[in-house]
Amino acid sequence: MAKVIAVNAGSSSIKYKLFEMPEEKVLASGIVDRIGHEDGIFKFKGGKEDRKDVLPIPDHGAGVRLILEALSTSGVVSSLEEIECVGHRVVQGGKYFSKSAFFTKDTEEKIRELTPLDPLHAPAHLLGFHAFKDALPGAKAIAVFDTAFHQTMEEEDYLFPIPDEWTEKYDCRRYGAHGTSHQYLAEKAIRDYLPGLAHTRVITCHIGSGASLAAVRDGKCVATSMGLTPLGGVMMGTRSGDIDPSVLDYVSTCTGKDVHEIYEILNRKSGLLGVSAGLSNDTRDIEEAVQEGNPKAIRAANLFARRVADYIGQYFVRLGGADIIVFSAGIGENSDYFRRIILERVEEALGLDIDYGKNVSENRKEALLSRPGSRIKVAIIPTDEEVMIARDCLKALEGTL
Ligand code: AMP
Repeated sequence: MAKVIAVNAGSSSIKYKLFEMPEEKVLASGIVDRIGHEDGIFKFKGGKEDRKDVLPIPDHGAGVRLILEALSTSGVVSSLEEIECVGHRVVQGGKYFSKSAFFTKDTEEKIRELTPLDPLHAPAHLLGFHAFKDALPGAKAIAVFDTAFHQTMEEEDYLFPIPDEWTEKYDCRRYGAHGTSHQYLAEKAIRDYLPGLAHTRVITCHIGSGASLAAVRDGKCVATSMGLTPLGGVMMGTRSGDIDPSVLDYVSTCTGKDVHEIYEILNRKSGLLGVSAGLSNDTRDIEEAVQEGNPKAIRAANLFARRVADYIGQYFVRLGGADIIVFSAGIGENSDYFRRIILERVEEALGLDIDYGKNVSENRKEALLSRPGSRIKVAIIPTDEEVMIARDCLKALEGTL
């Protein structure tokens, strides 16, 4: 038995989950939020405790100390030395990492080198790594990359049709994201819903505030929708997803904004938020406004569904068919409305037979939504990126990483 902790360090937050492995039992979980603020938030659930404290949290180091102190005082661990491995989620692994890696000096340097591809997260991941390293010097540390699962893509799936120099010199290509989630979903779908099938074709739809789809053949990713950065692919909460690149030049001419300003707007003010004319990036608000007949909300919801549906169609072709379509993440797991308007756009072409009653009654649960006669199965599977990190921690401890 080993205790390992899965960590997701952002610029102002640290999410954590402590597992007992190999049982995959969650011993404690929570978040340190608003790091750098006087009114920082610390949430902890473990042992008999379930609490939320508001207190100054000056930096990531202070956040990590709060987590470890709570693990000790709640009795979840009797000594911090019991925590044998820390698994850090890292968003961008570029071309370097096709699987998780020990957090060596070299790994750290490569993550730093990849910062231009992920300026928001990379520095935060390194802050998180150092904070845990200082606090738990005896524990192993690994980096688990969101991009790693997508490294099995072939050239024609990851290259952009741009000058060769940009590809070769700057590694400008599709890397994808949410790989840990897509891998979890595909593995679970194959194991639980396609038993005994020699060859499997899975389309995974990780649809949350960030959204991406993946086409997975025999457990390996062949295509994914996010691109060089998480801006590409389907429409999202605030991100545009794929658009004609000439929008940049045209909008620049119209507004006088430079490319960086427009890039920011495509990242933060587009997607559901942009199309709904600033109403919301959250599907709960959009759904409510749709019920009230708000035309901008209806337009935003329909465009979102169309974009996801088009990728499902694309991946059906890419895989030469499909055995199962999986919905997951905040919208995919919780919004029967969005699942329905997506499925309605593909069901005829793909020969789906969906139980829409079940789509509503089984909302927020793991469930098969398709009827036995459906050409392709359709399921909701709640994702679990943390358990994937914990599994790789165990491999690191067993020497099989
Ligand atoms: P994630 O990034 O996976 O945590 O997803 C967050 C997003 O999921 C939110 O911004 C909402 O758009 C959506 N979401 C979460 N809960 C619900 C819900 N109960 N109903 C509809 N959408 C939801």
